Amino acid sequence: MSAYKFSTFFFICFLLHFSNASGITILIDPGHGGDEDGAVATTVGENPPRMIKEKDIALDISKKIFEKLKKENYSVFLTRSIDRTVSLAERAAIAEKTKADLFISVHINSSSEAGAVGFETYYLDNHDDVAIKKVEKTENIQNAGENVLVQQILIDLVVEQTVKTSKPLAINIHSQLKEKIGKKYKVHSRGVKPGLFYVLALSKRPGVLLEVGFISTLKERVRMLNPKFQDDYASAVVLGIKKYIQSQKKSPRKRA
Ligand SMILES: [Zn+2]
Repeated sequence: MSAYKFSTFFFICFLLHFSNASGITILIDPGHGGDEDGAVATTVGENPPRMIKEKDIALDISKKIFEKLKKENYSVFLTRSIDRTVSLAERAAIAEKTKADLFISVHINSSSEAGAVGFETYYLDNHDDVAIKKVEKTENIQNAGENVLVQQILIDLVVEQTVKTSKPLAINIHSQLKEKIGKKYKVHSRGVKPGLFYVLALSKRPGVLLEVGFISTLKERVRMLNPKFQDDYASAVVLGIKKYIQSQKKSPRKRA
């Protein structure tokens, strides 16, 4: 990216910034964008069928989370507010530049398994789970299949620095999702899980990666395209973040 483009981007970024009295800065990261569609599926019953893309649903939900956090008087940024390509390194640079305390990455799952359903919440940690490795593989790829090289030593260091805050953040968000989304929409909770997502490692701060649902499953993609569901999902995430921040205030030594 040229210096001009970079400075223009940060100008836009600062336009999206809203200062506040809470002193906490939250960076919302809509997955993929621009050249990267993320997971895709086609509509059923439409002629011609339309392509549904992870990057678009992730952006819609991220913007809703952004607006709701703004109303709660947090300082909030988006890594992208339009359909543009953002490398994992650039997302990390934005986290640095904005001095974000919390990093929330929004993604949509896909599976070759017929009828895969449910939402899951990841925090950065080592693990030995084969199913999780499949999710990591798709989310860690960027720009036309190029694999980002992230050293295990960096991951270990960031895990050590963030897991004590990222895990409770994930638990707080996920329990609100279970309460608000799981019950209302009768959606299966796949749980809070450790994952080695490069975007979380590179951002080097407490954060979570949300997998809202499966684009590969018809009823899930129909639900995720529904603005009311997107709104309810965003509200649950915001409530989870608020509850996490409140819990940290009660024990300031653990604060993010
Ligand atoms: Zn994704």
